[in-house]
Amino acid sequence: MKATKVRSPMAFLFRWLPLVMAAAALALACGYWRNLLTANRPVTPPLTSIERNYGIDIDPAMLGKLRQLLPETFEVHGKFSDVIDAMRDKLFPHGAKTAGIFVNWRALELAGISRSTRIDARLGGLQIQDALLRVLAIADGGTEKLGAAPEDDVLWVDTKDDLAKNVFTRVYDVRDIVGRDPKTRAAAEADLKAQITAKIDPASWRPRGSAGDIRFLQGQAIVTQTAVNQHDLIMFLDRLRWYRDLRLFARKAAWPVGGAFVLGMIPGALLRRYRRKAQGLCGICGYDLRATPDRCPECGDVPSTAGRETTSGPMSQPR
Ligand SMILES: [Zn+2]
Repeated sequence: MKATKVRSPMAFLFRWLPLVMAAAALALACGYWRNLLTANRPVTPPLTSIERNYGIDIDPAMLGKLRQLLPETFEVHGKFSDVIDAMRDKLFPHGAKTAGIFVNWRALELAGISRSTRIDARLGGLQIQDALLRVLAIADGGTEKLGAAPEDDVLWVDTKDDLAKNVFTRVYDVRDIVGRDPKTRAAAEADLKAQITAKIDPASWRPRGSAGDIRFLQGQAIVTQTAVNQHDLIMFLDRLRWYRDLRLFARKAAWPVGGAFVLGMIPGALLRRYRRKAQGLCGICGYDLRATPDRCPECGDVPSTAGRETTSGPMSQPR
C-alpha cells in the first residue's frame, strides 16, 4: 500500500537533488581536472580526399588546377597514353614545357599495365582530380595499382609501390604511452607497434610492404613512412593520448560524482520517511502499519517511535 503522492515544491526539489548535485560535482571535476580534458585534445585535422590521393604537401596552385571542373561533354575514348595527353591539355592548357602530367611508363609496364590499354569514360562535370583517378582505375583494371602525386608543378603518375618509396623518417616520443620503466617498456612497445601497423595502412609495413618501418629506441618510435601515413600516425597517437586522459578523468571523477548523487538522495529519503511515519506507514517500505504499529510485517522494520517498551523481541505479535 502506497502513500498518496503529495506534489509539493519540496518533494520536487528533493526528487531532482541527486542529479543536480551529481551535475554540479561533474562541473567541478571538469574544472579541477581541466588539463586531462584539454591538454591532449586532438587538433590535427583529418586529410581531405584530395590530400590523401595526391599527397599531403600539395602546392596550392596544383590544388587549384586539380579542382577545375571538366566541361559537361568531356569524354575520352582511346589508348591510355592518348587519354593522358587529353587530360594534360585540360590541366595545363597553355602547353607549358616544364609543367605537365608525367607517366612512369617503364614502371607501369613492369606492373603489367600497357600504354595502349583501351580507355572509354565520360568524365564531364567531374573535377580533374576525380577524372584522373577514374582513368587510372580503368587502366589498372580496378587493382588500385596506380596513383598520382604532384611534385612542384608536375603531376607524376606511377605505381603506388613506386610512389610509396617517397618516404621519410620521423621520431615520435612515446615514453608517455609505453612507460619509462625499461622492464615493462619492451612489451608496451611491441603492443604499440602491433596497434600502429594494424591500424595505419597495414600493407605498407615491412615485411609485407617495402616502405614502412617502425623501430623503438628507449621509448622513441622511429618511423619511416609516406607523408600521408605519418599524418595518420600523428592522428592515431593524438587519439590514443586523448582517450587515455578521458579514461583517467572518468576514474577520478566517478567518486565525487557518485558521492554527490548519493548525498543528494539523503534529504529526499529522510523527508519520505518522515511523511510515511506521519501517515502511519512504514518509514522504510511504505507498508500500512496502522494494524501493526510495533513492527513492519513487510520489511521487518521496528519503528523507533512506536511503543519502545513493547518491542521486546520478535515474539511481539500484531493484535
Ligand atoms: Zn516496512
